Amino acid sequence: MKILVCNDDGIYSPGIVALAEVASEFGTVRIVAPNVEQSAMGHAITASRPLSYRETPLNGFTAYRVNGTPADCVALGTHQWDTVDLVVSGCNLGLNIGNSIWHSGTLAAAKQAALLGLRGIAFSAPSGIDDFTALKPWIRRVLDVLVPAHELQLVNVNLPKDPRGIIWTRVSVRHYDGVIVPTNDPLGRELFWFSVKPLEGADEGTDRWAIEQRWVSVTPLRLDLTDEAMLDQSREQRPMDENLAAAVSPPKSSPEAAKEVELSEAAVLPPRVS
Ligand code: MN
Repeated sequence: MKILVCNDDGIYSPGIVALAEVASEFGTVRIVAPNVEQSAMGHAITASRPLSYRETPLNGFTAYRVNGTPADCVALGTHQWDTVDLVVSGCNLGLNIGNSIWHSGTLAAAKQAALLGLRGIAFSAPSGIDDFTALKPWIRRVLDVLVPAHELQLVNVNLPKDPRGIIWTRVSVRHYDGVIVPTNDPLGRELFWFSVKPLEGADEGTDRWAIEQRWVSVTPLRLDLTDEAMLDQSREQRPMDENLAAAVSPPKSSPEAAKEVELSEAAVLPPRVS
């Protein structure tokens, strides 16, 4: 089995070596990771400049550093290595629970794998950990369960400092914990920190609750963000032109119609007329 290892803390983070070491017990490992930290870059991709892919020595692993985002690394890494079976991301220095799943570059690498039809697993640990010795058996136990579970395409794993077990969880997104903190530069001009306010009282069964209770949190995620319940309710209570669309539009569009939309999505400038 070929396992691509990525992260968002940068290729020289201790967390990526720890994850690669455990992953190498399950298959052949290759590391492809950002050359500098890309935390909180989310699922950004680099579409306006080319990317470099440079081999770099890293604890005996085959490793490449990329001047791009975590999602770039997975796209490029799977392009450069045929038939990757699994992408693991991390182990991040900093938890990715609750709202963090929207900002996390660690999770974005796993998401990119899922978008490419591969499987992705993201691992995050508390910030400040530099020795992963105590957490590695827990990463191993999670992979023991997840590697054979082919039905799970995208999974977010968070490890507390001193775990007492592993549980399945759901995402805690009841409150948003982003907070803006004003400050000043040396000349007295106003600046702002975007920071995080700790929340208390997370719901039982959520990722945040699991970490508060010192359980390793394993959350299966999906790419389709559609709110199915609200979609059904909206179609029923606020109908628009669904009936007309069903009457005049075929279930599958023509190749021409599909192509035109594809071109409209591309971030490419129209040809210049001289
Ligand atoms: Mn990070």
